[in-house]
Amino acid sequence: MTHRVLLIENDVATAVAILGVLTQAWDESFEVEWVRRCSEGLARLDGIVAIVVDLDQPDNRGLDTFDTLFHAAPRIPILVLIDPQDEKTGKLAVHRGAQDYLLKAHLERLLLPKALRSMIERAAYSEALFEEKERARVTLNSIGDAVVSTDASCHITYLNSTAEDLIGWTQKEAVGHPVEDVLHFIDAETRAAVHNPMTQTILEDKAIALVPNCMLVRRDGTEVSIEDSVAPIHDRRGEVTGAVMVFHDVSAARAKTLRMSHLAQHDSLTDLPNRALLHDRLNEAITLSQRHQRKLAVLFVDLDRFKHINDSLGHATGDGLLRSVARRLSTCVRSSDTVGRHGGDEFVVLLWDMRHSQDAVVTASKILEVLREPHYVNNHNLHVTGSVGIATYPDDGTDAETLMKRADLAMYNAKEAGRDSYRFFESEMNARASDRQSLEEDLHFALKRRELVLYYQPKMNLATGAIIGAEALLRWRHPQRGLLLPGQFIPIAEDCGLIVSIGRWVLHEACRQMRTWQIAGQPPLSVAINISAVELRVPEFASNVRATLAEMGLAPRCLELELTETGLMDDLRAMTEPRSFACVLTELKEIGVLLALDDFGTGYSSLSHLKRFPIDTLKIDHSFVRDLKGNGDSTGIVIGLIGMGRCLRMRVVAEGVETMEQLEILTQHGCPEGQGYFFSRPVPAEEFGRLLERDAAGTHLFDQISLEEILLSRRLDAA
Ligand code: C2E
Ligand code: MG
Ligand code: MG
Repeated sequence: MTHRVLLIENDVATAVAILGVLTQAWDESFEVEWVRRCSEGLARLDGIVAIVVDLDQPDNRGLDTFDTLFHAAPRIPILVLIDPQDEKTGKLAVHRGAQDYLLKAHLERLLLPKALRSMIERAAYSEALFEEKERARVTLNSIGDAVVSTDASCHITYLNSTAEDLIGWTQKEAVGHPVEDVLHFIDAETRAAVHNPMTQTILEDKAIALVPNCMLVRRDGTEVSIEDSVAPIHDRRGEVTGAVMVFHDVSAARAKTLRMSHLAQHDSLTDLPNRALLHDRLNEAITLSQRHQRKLAVLFVDLDRFKHINDSLGHATGDGLLRSVARRLSTCVRSSDTVGRHGGDEFVVLLWDMRHSQDAVVTASKILEVLREPHYVNNHNLHVTGSVGIATYPDDGTDAETLMKRADLAMYNAKEAGRDSYRFFESEMNARASDRQSLEEDLHFALKRRELVLYYQPKMNLATGAIIGAEALLRWRHPQRGLLLPGQFIPIAEDCGLIVSIGRWVLHEACRQMRTWQIAGQPPLSVAINISAVELRVPEFASNVRATLAEMGLAPRCLELELTETGLMDDLRAMTEPRSFACVLTELKEIGVLLALDDFGTGYSSLSHLKRFPIDTLKIDHSFVRDLKGNGDSTGIVIGLIGMGRCLRMRVVAEGVETMEQLEILTQHGCPEGQGYFFSRPVPAEEFGRLLERDAAGTHLFDQISLEEILLSRRLDAA
């Protein structure tokens, strides 16, 4: 390779000598351009890789000559030639940027080419180094990571631009400062200062990662979550000469992780802790309570009638109600307590650090109270109540599972006791629950195994003493427990939904039996069956009634459906618009079946509500009939109810007539119909058939003539 060298030499003899040295026949390393003046040289710099200049120039003298050249070509290495007596100038030139100087006396064959060659090599090497450094600089400034380096004494030597932005110091400001001045780290959780890892990496001479969850405190005091590592820098001999730290802002990623873990632990609808987090908190609370010998309470809160609201008003309204409930529950507890959603309409409240179990009563009462207030959701004023079960640590259990289960059981008992109330767990509840569980299991097979039967109780015309109808009452012939009454299994069937298929069977069986009696020539009676509110909510209820009547060939007027007042009024209380039940009832009326309001007087009956429903019959609850005596309270109520039925043009049936005295009073006040043990207990179908035969033959269940005589003699006595 040939190097083009520019020679600036005014003295011809010297120039010839130099040319001679550089352009040997055997060596074609150099191609020399010779000019005599500096100004000429400046015009010929193109392609030149080295300059040899004699500083003794006519146009520009000494160092000025050098400065001019150096200024024009800062990256071309310059070798200056000087007179032996002027070595000082040579040194000054080197000081100003010349690569080297050579005494004119030493222009012998080998020295000059050697000096030139090494000068050109050095220049090429430093050019390459410069390029490499530049490449590194650009790279470091264009990566997203912040890079900081220090020397061995932990003073800053470098910051890339990301580091400048992130830390808030410019490289210029930071260089030379101890690293502690520039970089401050704290632990995100404890907020304690974290030792600068660069000092450590230098001391230990090994790469280390930052402590997890580390935050950088920026120059302006704001904080960013960062993550990354530090490594020592070594020289050629392996000695540590500094450290480099690479880190990046993970605030967004960390926020995302936090958000994800929040989502995993919270219920998306109410943002309350979910079941999993509740469980963790409960375990944590148990550990703390153990350590500090404190009590804690688990309150299981379940909304009454929520399913009904959800089904009838739609899920959006149901969701709105749950959110409203969540907000209110949170107002009932201290900030240290936990309110969580267990699922569906079930919430759990954890009360920490209680002194007495009774402290939970205060919260439970507050919860019931805030739930009772109407909830305004989607233009509906919703009325709900809650049932609360309470289990306390350590009295009712020492582990999370037991406490939750027992609070749930207690809640169940609160519901059974009539809702809108709270109950503490009691040990008997366990036995009752397992008993109930086994009954529920058996009930699943009861229909298939034909264990269910209908008993019939006559309804009497009190004026004539004749049987005018029958109420079908369900019985369960349990293989081990014997004959079970509806009170022992209907609530279970309602809870687990079995009531729907059981109800269908009852309807079918009662209609079939009725038809059998009709075919046997019995006078046209009506049969009443009891319908629970759960059944009424099944959309195809009415159409099923229609189909069954058709299948059995029974006139609709022969079938009466008894609905409890509480069932209907629950519906009214829950909603502003009692659409659902009223609709079903109207549909049933259109079919032509009779509707009776059962247990009348025990619920929240109001006349205005009554008028809304197409009811044919009121059945006065036996609690009033039982207490009928002379002019007691009940007598007044019964008289009132009889009058009310008459006004509303409804038939009135007195339930639970057990004594002659009750019968007398009822007849005296014109109660048209009655039912009760006084006439007959509910009996199996064949037996009821015999009652019907005797009745048809004129032997009534009570002697109406003698009753009239008694009444007459009373009236005479009174007169
Ligand atoms: P209910 O409809 O009010 O039925 C009247 C209840 O009073 C019956 O109890 C009957 O045996 C009882 N009873 C009749 N006369 C007298 C009396 O003079 N004195 C006394 N103390 N009680 C009398 P039972 O059969 O135990 O039924 C209880 C409740 O179970 C019924 O009350 C009804 O609400 C429900 N039920 C019965 N069968 C069915 C059914 O097939 N489906 C549904 N959903 N519920 C049913
Ligand atoms: Mg009934
Ligand atoms: Mg009743």
